[in-house]
Amino acid sequence: MSHPELRKLPSVDRLLHQSAIVAARTQFSHELVVDAARSLLEESRAAIIDQGQPCPAPDELAQTLLARLHAATQPTLQPLINASGVIIHTNLGRAPLSEDAQRAMLLASEGYSNLEYDLAAGRRGSRYLHAVALLRRLTGAEDALVVNNNAGAVLLCLMALAHGRQVIISRGQLVEIGGGFRIPDVLLASGARLVEVGATNRTHLADYQRAIGPETAALLRVHSSNFRQIGFTAEVSLAELAALGRQHELPLIDDLGSGTLLDTARYGLAREPRVQESVQAGATLVTFSGDKLLGGPQAGLIVGRAEEIARLRQHPLTRALRVDKTTLAALAATLSHYLAGQAEQQIPVWRMIAASKEALAARAAGWAARLTEAGLAARVQPGASTVGGGALPGETLPTCLLALPGLPADRMAARLRAGQPAVVARIVDDALCFDPRTVLPEQEELLLAAILAAR
Ligand SMILES: *Cc1c(COP(=O)(O)O)cnc(C)c1O
Repeated sequence: MSHPELRKLPSVDRLLHQSAIVAARTQFSHELVVDAARSLLEESRAAIIDQGQPCPAPDELAQTLLARLHAATQPTLQPLINASGVIIHTNLGRAPLSEDAQRAMLLASEGYSNLEYDLAAGRRGSRYLHAVALLRRLTGAEDALVVNNNAGAVLLCLMALAHGRQVIISRGQLVEIGGGFRIPDVLLASGARLVEVGATNRTHLADYQRAIGPETAALLRVHSSNFRQIGFTAEVSLAELAALGRQHELPLIDDLGSGTLLDTARYGLAREPRVQESVQAGATLVTFSGDKLLGGPQAGLIVGRAEEIARLRQHPLTRALRVDKTTLAALAATLSHYLAGQAEQQIPVWRMIAASKEALAARAAGWAARLTEAGLAARVQPGASTVGGGALPGETLPTCLLALPGLPADRMAARLRAGQPAVVARIVDDALCFDPRTVLPEQEELLLAAILAAR
């Protein structure tokens, strides 16, 4: 205690009696305030002793403590503006929801609901019924089951139908989806044994035929999602696989990944396989994501034959993967848009895909004009948006970017990420660029204000 600066350091009690702290005490629990005060004083003590720093003034300590208390109680999950031009950005929460889907989520969360209650009979019902009629109608499947996410859907199908037995898959489909999700690992976790057939670039029907034996439980096809093979390649069609499965009484599981109900070719993109086509081609079970091209909440959708869906529904893993009521509410609202023929108008993902180049150019030009008026060098330049979400690799949609040349792009990008709301932009040829395609119209004013504040 010989250090003179140390003697100036207040006690926890005295720090807590600073007027700024007294005024803010009601917003935080006593434990949180005391803990934060203690660690702050310990750090200050260490800084004085180890680094010879002076003791901070009492009100400086109080302000630091307040800032830490606010930071500790702020949610880490925060909304942001996606100006990257990647529509289904997995790191940014994938699909923004339609207004109806948002409202449905809010309604389901505000109070009670008939989530697992049969109102007509006045007794227990099933949560798994809510989206079934919609999914059956939209895909033509006999039955449907909704679980937490598509990785869970694939795991459930394999576990329920192939645990301890063999699953046959083409070598070209042993893909890693991202975030470390690899098909061979899911197979392993399900307790199914992997039988790889064919070569990386080419697999034929005879390869599957030869591999079928008494231990075979299922055939699995996985959509390669985020990569594309070109050149000397061959895959067996789903219809051929389905016929083979029927011949040997083996279920065919088709993991579509993104999956889509609408035809992507109508938007100048390559054709992403449609869910209803897989059902039509004879797949026993088809799995796809709720929050990729479907444009809804995070969920894993399984559609297919009634008998196999019934087996899945009874499996204990289904309980572990069950969806929450707000998810079911948002999913049903999203599916209703397809039924109403309003997907392109109402679902943000499809609105973004369908946005015309002229509309995007007009928005970018409007932003550039506003920023130029405010004294910032801004211009409009052609660019490319991508669908993302592991769908349509290498495919782009032509767009118009707002570019801010002449500013240090890295530093500016970092400042925008640190703002409130944060903005995620893209750097193209050293210029910071903003793609209007993924910026929601109601975020435009916030975006311009954020850019001006960050310059
Ligand atoms: C994205 C994807 C998954 C995982 O889906 P989640 O909904 O993210 O769990 C599984 N398989 C394929 C082929 C995918 O593209």
